[in-house]
Amino acid sequence: MLRLYNSLSRQIEEFQPIQPPHVGMYTCGPTVYQYAHIGNFRAYMTADILVRVLKHNNYDLKFVMNITDVGHLVSDADSGEDKLEKSAKKEGKTAWDIAELYTDAFLKDYDALGLTRPDVLAKATDHVQEQIDLIKRLEAKGFTYIISDGVYFDTSKLADYGKLSTLDQIKEGARVEINEEKRNPRDFALWKFSEPKGTGPFDSAQAVRGSEEPPGSRRGDAVSRRHMEWESPWGVGFPGWHIECSAMSMKYLGETFDIHTGGVDHISIHHTNEIAQSEAATGKKFVDYWVHTAFMLVQGQKMSKSLGNTYKLSDLVGNGYLPVHLRYLYLQTHYRQEMNFTWESLEAAKTALERLTNSVAMWDKGEGEVSKKFEEKFLMALNDDLNTPRALAVVWELMKSDIKPGQKRATLLKMDEVLGLGLQRAGKKPDFVKTTTGKQEAIPEVVQSLLDERTRVRAQQDFQRSDELREQIRGLGYDVQDSPSGPSLKKL
Ligand code: AMP
Ligand code: ZN
Repeated sequence: MLRLYNSLSRQIEEFQPIQPPHVGMYTCGPTVYQYAHIGNFRAYMTADILVRVLKHNNYDLKFVMNITDVGHLVSDADSGEDKLEKSAKKEGKTAWDIAELYTDAFLKDYDALGLTRPDVLAKATDHVQEQIDLIKRLEAKGFTYIISDGVYFDTSKLADYGKLSTLDQIKEGARVEINEEKRNPRDFALWKFSEPKGTGPFDSAQAVRGSEEPPGSRRGDAVSRRHMEWESPWGVGFPGWHIECSAMSMKYLGETFDIHTGGVDHISIHHTNEIAQSEAATGKKFVDYWVHTAFMLVQGQKMSKSLGNTYKLSDLVGNGYLPVHLRYLYLQTHYRQEMNFTWESLEAAKTALERLTNSVAMWDKGEGEVSKKFEEKFLMALNDDLNTPRALAVVWELMKSDIKPGQKRATLLKMDEVLGLGLQRAGKKPDFVKTTTGKQEAIPEVVQSLLDERTRVRAQQDFQRSDELREQIRGLGYDVQDSPSGPSLKKL
């Protein structure tokens, strides 16, 4: 029986899905205005472990994640610039280009870390109509009001607003910048106008392009005009950040669903507001279980772009580490505990993992059955609120035990379905590839040596050379795919 800490009740609960064996889970995805750092990926790692544990418990999971490509403002209090539009200005691109660039970069790292892809990956800009429809529902029920810069949610109209967090936390967030026109300091934007009423050179009744128009086109001489904007019943603008998650999660998972995940920083504003909008619109409970990941720290401070203390996955790879070393490092700390990143701890994770993979390679010849005793102990640790450090302790207990090597190997590989450490083929060269017909085929020596060369230059952060080598390999009929345990090849 799986037990999870639920931020809503502030206690550990037995997990009971609404319609077993089906489980619906939504994860707040990245805001794609810059590269994601390894702190961000910690939150997705928790989601991945939860996904794998649910599958191990034989649940039939539908996993949805969003990509925030519009509407997330610099300040969580709905003021300041849109993060994507700001990056676009800085990089001399359009917001559409920025979204594409950083979505691709995100997914590349996501795959390299062996994180399970969601069944639905939903972009906010592809769901503007759903967001408008939800705002209309809220408007019809009297939860909204309009001020000069947008349509707002009136939090005083919802009796249990803020049940996910203490009011102090919410005030803290809302204090960032005060909008004098808001009725209550904690009210938040559902729809923002491109130009606040009465201030801009544009009349919002003018026709403007919608999302289907080619990205990057600008209107006339409107230098300060946003790249992303849509028509709405209230005026031309863009959705607020929170509404996208309510609209998309309910579209794909129903008005009430099982699990919602994200980082702890989302509790006081983003998730509080998701609950408010959704429950105000439907009159039903929005989500049963809220799972939040604690921060990754660097020298005692939150890893964040604004503090300039972030590391990207490519920084780690550049220093000679594989994505799978970071995966092991994540597993060593329980997701509800803060985790301090140091190069020493990454090195220690690498050493530990190498010991594991070397053993598995050494035991290669043996045959054996999965040890029920160790498998059960392992699953019990994970079912206890995803206790990955304890699950790793079971792995090492197995390693030291006196059961037969073949059995150890079989048990470890079974455990690796959840750990995702690539033990099956870790440390081995990809000397065979699957062809499109599913047959195995030896890799030509020339391709193998180009692949080795690419691994070497990547470790030196020479990504230009690495890309050239990838192209060369492509020319020989193979596609290089990076994975947690190193590169693999696919025949084209
Ligand atoms: P964002 O792209 O800013 O919306 O954040 C993506 C995810 O990363 C969210 O779930 C955040 O809560 C989470 N996050 C941001 N910084 C950290 C950190 N230092 N440690 C762990 N999670 C983080
Ligand atoms: Zn969200």
